Amino acid sequence: MNGEPLLEIKDLHVGYKTHMGISHVLNGVHLTVHKGERVGVIGESGSGKTTTMKSILRILPSNAIIKKGEIVYNGKDVLKMSNEELLTIRRKKISMIFQDPTSALNPLFKIGQIMLDIIKYSYNLEEKDAKEMALKALKEAALPDPERVFDSYPFQLSGGMRQRVCIALALIGERELIIADEPTTNLDVTIKAQVLNLLTDLVKKKNVGWIFVSQALGAVRENVDRVYVMYAGNIIEWGPSEKVFSNPLHPYTQKLLECVPKLTGKEFAKGIRGRIPNYFHPPSGCRFHPRCDYIMDNCKKNIPEPVEVEHEHFVSCYLYHRR
Ligand code: SF4
Repeated sequence: MNGEPLLEIKDLHVGYKTHMGISHVLNGVHLTVHKGERVGVIGESGSGKTTTMKSILRILPSNAIIKKGEIVYNGKDVLKMSNEELLTIRRKKISMIFQDPTSALNPLFKIGQIMLDIIKYSYNLEEKDAKEMALKALKEAALPDPERVFDSYPFQLSGGMRQRVCIALALIGERELIIADEPTTNLDVTIKAQVLNLLTDLVKKKNVGWIFVSQALGAVRENVDRVYVMYAGNIIEWGPSEKVFSNPLHPYTQKLLECVPKLTGKEFAKGIRGRIPNYFHPPSGCRFHPRCDYIMDNCKKNIPEPVEVEHEHFVSCYLYHRR
């Protein structure tokens, strides 16, 4: 990708303080998003995807410790921003769509009130103009009868409609980056595709950057320009989506893709032996080594440096250092 990055995460290390000690989750994460670029992040549950996303907006739980790293947004490190600067970014520039639309909307307030509060707070508008903006956003999110939705409590809407409201809220105004963390996981299978198509269309139409975090590998493959593969707090492979999915390089990515069920009916999807490591005592060197079929001496000692195997397609694995 050419041009200045909109967001650049560099060598991010994040842990959580618990009564059992420190859980060392992120172990040097890096990720770049350019203006209007659609980027996917894939990996098993517990690999640190949500911790990475919450770090961007500094909305991690209070026991989180950011040990090291930078999150550069439009040239400024989010981790060093004042509260005022951070609020401006959260209100106007970057928004996040969570997995569960039910908990994202306060059940005590009507949708209209929730939207008006956010719009008035963020854009300092009069009630009439704020309502106009809210109704326009609901219409863009393909909600039938926006006036009725505006006047409804969250419990009066279906899960799909609630997630559309969250999408409308996330795209209000002049946003530059949308982070969608498993946005369709909690929805009925029948409306997952509709909601995802809506989100993709709006992101393209408004030319905003998009980070799409998901375990639905097919959906990621179809909807993003580049993809990052995350394992146990590290980015282990990244590149243009088509290259990563058609030519997976890292042994973990290969196994992950083998987990996708085939429609041929001839074989079952394969699993990956072992499990995500214990973050209190993570494995040394390459964190995948206890599960890897190709382990070598070096793998336990040091974290492999990334290698560009084909144009813009990188992998962190010693198998490619020998070439
Ligand atoms: Fe396997 Fe070593 Fe590559 Fe890690 S660095 S994936 S242990 S071969």
